[in-house]
Amino acid sequence: MIPSDSSANKAERAPKGNLRRNDPPDAQRGRNAAGGDQRPLLRCLVVSHDVDVRSLVESMLKVRRHTVTSCGPDELDGIDIDGLAPQLAIIDWRLPDRLALDLIGRLHHDPGSAPTCQVLAIAEENSGSEASAILDAGYCDVLSEPLEPAAVEARIRVHEQIAGQFLRLEKAFADLHQSHERLLISCGGQADGMWDADLRTGELVLSPEWDKLIGGPVDRQTTVDRWLDLVDEEDRDRIRQLIDSVARGELHSLEGHYRVFRADGASRRLLVRGETVRDGAGETLRLVCRHTDVTEDHLAFDEPRTNLLIDPLTRLASRTVLLDRLRHAFARASRMKDKPFAVLFFDIDRFKNVNDSLGHLVGDKLLMAIADRVRSICRPSDTVCRFGGDEFVIVAEDVESVRDATSIAGRLHQEFQVPFTLDGSEAYATVSTGIAMWHPGYDKPENLLRDADNAMYRAKELGRNRYAVFDEKMHAEVVATLELENDLRRAVARKEFLPFYQPIISLDRGNLVGFEVLARWRHPTRGLVRPTEFIHVAEEMGIAVQIDRLVAEEACRQLRPWQVQYRLDPPISISLNISTTQFLQLELVSRIDHTLRQSGLYGRDIKLEVTESVLMENTEHATAMLDQLSALDIGLSIDDFGTGYSSLAYLKRFEIDSLKIDYSFVSRMIEDVDSMEIVRTIVDLGRNLGKTTIAEGVETDAQLECLRELGVDQVQGFYIARPMPADQAAELLDRIHLSRNHLQTILVDRLVEEQNIDLG
Ligand code: C2E
Ligand code: MG
Ligand code: MG
Repeated sequence: MIPSDSSANKAERAPKGNLRRNDPPDAQRGRNAAGGDQRPLLRCLVVSHDVDVRSLVESMLKVRRHTVTSCGPDELDGIDIDGLAPQLAIIDWRLPDRLALDLIGRLHHDPGSAPTCQVLAIAEENSGSEASAILDAGYCDVLSEPLEPAAVEARIRVHEQIAGQFLRLEKAFADLHQSHERLLISCGGQADGMWDADLRTGELVLSPEWDKLIGGPVDRQTTVDRWLDLVDEEDRDRIRQLIDSVARGELHSLEGHYRVFRADGASRRLLVRGETVRDGAGETLRLVCRHTDVTEDHLAFDEPRTNLLIDPLTRLASRTVLLDRLRHAFARASRMKDKPFAVLFFDIDRFKNVNDSLGHLVGDKLLMAIADRVRSICRPSDTVCRFGGDEFVIVAEDVESVRDATSIAGRLHQEFQVPFTLDGSEAYATVSTGIAMWHPGYDKPENLLRDADNAMYRAKELGRNRYAVFDEKMHAEVVATLELENDLRRAVARKEFLPFYQPIISLDRGNLVGFEVLARWRHPTRGLVRPTEFIHVAEEMGIAVQIDRLVAEEACRQLRPWQVQYRLDPPISISLNISTTQFLQLELVSRIDHTLRQSGLYGRDIKLEVTESVLMENTEHATAMLDQLSALDIGLSIDDFGTGYSSLAYLKRFEIDSLKIDYSFVSRMIEDVDSMEIVRTIVDLGRNLGKTTIAEGVETDAQLECLRELGVDQVQGFYIARPMPADQAAELLDRIHLSRNHLQTILVDRLVEEQNIDLG
């Protein structure tokens, strides 16, 4: 049975151990030439000790929509370099020698041929001699530290172009092999039977070698139909269909096996490979084939040559063939508007679990079995390709409508209802499928692949084991996310983020205990943007850490002068929101320590806010991290408490100072008894465990009074003050610092202001 662990799945872009494998939103995964422009999308590997360097390089690559695997040197063991087959690798020059040399050796795996992977070194601003040592070591370029985003981007662009050249070379190489194949066909071979059919008349000419193949005299001027009589009945229809597809122009080459019975009754297995001859308008005129007897060793394929066309594991079409068919279908559909087609992109749900738990051999068997089933539901005119890993693509031609395309997907999914037999035991697998339907608005064939892939991710998001059709809305989302990613990258470089401050008030004396620091993005055209609109994407891009740091450093710089000027007792503190990625970084504590020292603050002056899930999903790391934080006297709040993890045991395990009761409970507590009970329970829990309770999102007087009655320690919310920029926070401090009850002063001031506005 295939296990169904929901945590580890490539398709969910889940981390493997500590590695982060960030697939871009449209998850091109090394696709060569998809996407909206001509540049290739590459599989990239980034290796460095320095997390900041990694995250900068990784996000720059990601913004350019490359697939990135990034890790520290000690995590390299966990990476299947050969499987990953990176096309661009950026490696720290300071890795231990053996590790670096070994890695470079593995990347340039084919010593005699042109390097398939370009390897760049990250090294300190260096002298000429060091640069030449770097190049001698097998690197092909150097990124000098400190890394400048603009310079890094420029180098990436250069290497994209070089990679593009390699890919074009590869394609040219494949074309060359095809031409070579044609040449062989026209020259004939010793034992091979040549076969030349006029596809308009059905007339067929056979070479003299056919006599040997069949073991008796063969009529050399014949017809395709008569020749088919020589083919074993079981294979006949399949071969006829292949020839028909070629005749209809749906296939431009032919390859397959079939059996014949010789005159002496022996069964022989033949391999047929053929190419078409077309006129200037692209109409197919003739099919010329070579038939080889492969009975003795029917697996004796010329692998290097067929690999370019056929996936060796599943014997499905290769990417080269897929792209060729896709272009052909695209050109045909564009020329003859009534010949639309569909692209179906699917992968196996949780396939990584199969490999991880049952081993790669079983994984391979599953892929082969799946390939057979997919083949069985496709028409001969459809192209079925293994796109890579567990991904498959079907180019289905003459598909009139989305309905036709979804019915193919329906058939496909139906096939997976029957279990697979792997090594004697039964296993179920499911797939998620994305469908993109050609329409005249498409300007490039590759864009259909991209959209089908995006639709597949939508199918995954919707719960897997289903299909989704790419539509305009998805297109708009993809475009918007790409724009947001570009904007964010630029915004980090230009430091467009700033802290806003929202007062936190203690209810016992009504005094201001501090501010929660909330990031705002000063967007050049959209104005101030709230974090809910970007922090999630920034997390996925790996740049949330940089945003957090910009905001936190600015807030820390701001806090000390306020403490000195207003001398509140106890001194005011700030609460900083910490993104998941930042919490996972080992150097978080040392960086905070550094910031505190630079700003003249103590650990007790700041608190970190993390969500329950961050702690629970990383318990080991969290324990070590929290120990270090408490050694520095830095407090920890659980943000959005009550919305996350259900086990409360962790409250005892970790050193937590406060629980921030989530806005959703506070906002409903007056009207909704359940919410009120949840708030009451959290307050009791906090009291019993000696944790401070803070209610966030207080919007009304009624809520405030109710929270006071329940015994909540601290409050924050629009009713008291909205998050505000530093100058307004300073004004607020100025107004309240001498008053006995800050809360009262704030509320009275607000009342007066409102009345003034009303009067005005
Ligand atoms: P959070 O930490 O739970 O912050 C509270 C959110 O509630 C803030 O939204 C705040 O403006 C809003 N809020 C406060 N009082 C009220 C109220 O009375 N009514 C309503 N409706 N909302 C109220 P904001 O600023 O949009 O931040 C949203 C979330 O973004 C934050 O939730 C936090 O998780 C995250 N965030 C904010 N700043 C940062 C940052 O610097 N780094 C990271 N990683 N995340 C941040
Ligand atoms: Mg918060
Ligand atoms: Mg919150």
